[in-house]
Amino acid sequence: SDSVQKELRSPICCIMGHVDTGKTKLLDCIRGTNVQEGEAGGITQQIGATYFPAENIRERTKELKADAKLNVPGLLVIDTPGHESFTNLRSRGSGLCEIAILVVDIMHGLEPQTIESLNLLKMRNTDFIVALNKVDRLYGWKTCRNAPIGKAMKLQSKDVQMEFNNRLTQVITQFKEQGLNTELYYKNKDRGETFNIVPTSAISGEGIPDMLLLLVQWTQKTMIERLTFSNEVECTVLEVKVVEGHGTTIDVVLVNGVLHEGDQIVGPIVTTIRALLTPHPMKELRVKGTYLHHKEIKAAQGIKITAQGLEHAIAGTSLYIVGPNDDLEDIKATAMEDMKSVMSRIDKSGEGVYVQASTLGSLEALLEFLKTPAVNIPVSGISIGPVHKKDVMKASVMLEKKKEYATILAFDVKVTQEARELADELGVTIFIADIIYHLFDQFKAYIDNLKE
Ligand code: GDP
Ligand code: MG
Repeated sequence: SDSVQKELRSPICCIMGHVDTGKTKLLDCIRGTNVQEGEAGGITQQIGATYFPAENIRERTKELKADAKLNVPGLLVIDTPGHESFTNLRSRGSGLCEIAILVVDIMHGLEPQTIESLNLLKMRNTDFIVALNKVDRLYGWKTCRNAPIGKAMKLQSKDVQMEFNNRLTQVITQFKEQGLNTELYYKNKDRGETFNIVPTSAISGEGIPDMLLLLVQWTQKTMIERLTFSNEVECTVLEVKVVEGHGTTIDVVLVNGVLHEGDQIVGPIVTTIRALLTPHPMKELRVKGTYLHHKEIKAAQGIKITAQGLEHAIAGTSLYIVGPNDDLEDIKATAMEDMKSVMSRIDKSGEGVYVQASTLGSLEALLEFLKTPAVNIPVSGISIGPVHKKDVMKASVMLEKKKEYATILAFDVKVTQEARELADELGVTIFIADIIYHLFDQFKAYIDNLKE
């Protein structure tokens, strides 16, 4: 009841599904921005976090006349990258997100990465809703901009409704084949056991109010414990990047607790927070613009941190705060744990290519991809961040052992001028791409060429 109401933080939601189902576009639609068209190959290769304040959700959902109290301050949505292997966002060993939106293209039904995502959600025991997206592509669909789906559906012809029902039934059957019960959310009497499906269009906005309301109502109803605000800081680094006027900064998701200007933080680095910045609400962390400065910030939020030495921070790892009674060495040791799983993927024979990526998560994804039987490229060394001379030096060791492996596969990172010159001089080949499988294509072509 109200008298004992606990203080809640915003739920964190991630958006998953097969490539091109409309994950980025759905977020664009809620935000009213256009990130999707600026992306490499249309695929989201980096991670963004967007905060949707409760007032905005209230505004967007008012037509549903839910008027239900929003007890959470907002909703924080993470757009996970498109590649199936980007499954490595964690917070203290558990998943980062309370709830996921699993996006399914109504014209395609379940696809390989949908099933990948499903397995991941099952493994992590993460709750989710299904956004059955692209309803506007049903033949003869009448646009009903930003309308609740029930209202939009009533305006459709019998033919459209029939096609919708056929496709919905197919999707429900496909989920059943995966061992899951799903149902259109407003027909679902068995919430909890049966997962909710919300039909949406990311282009014309039908069903978006329903999706927002469902996310907020469901999390605040079923996850009170988990969403109860705690003072213990839980924070994950999403991205390390240089920002003009700020030097190297980190984008983090603060899951719990409060961060202050001047806090001592431990990543693999030990440093002090100089500034806590957020974009204006509704703008995504990676969209350029001016920032708001804060003395302190409370979870859950996406935050940009500036500090000395952040070039050594590693995306995908947890950030720890040193409290007055904490032992710095203990915290440093804990922080290193995150690196271990990645290190264990390096080929023990010492023969293999050198792999470099922008984040721990993308490095893990790339290593996972290179390990799959169809690809099977051994790795002898790894690094995170831009390719420097020292990386070229390390890769050049293979010139003596196995010349074709004297190669750097660089994913979504820059190569410094000096590194490039040294590579030319030594005979180290560098492949650069911002889509993982393009790296494989380049490397394969190179090997095939050598064999001829
Ligand atoms: P992602 O790979 O899942 O992030 O997919 P995107 O958001 O990049 O969308 C892939 C393509 O589908 C883009 O061309 C979008 O414009 C298009 N798309 C996304 N959502 C919708 C939708 O609801 N309706 C229609 N007609 N097209 C959509
Ligand atoms: Mg995307």
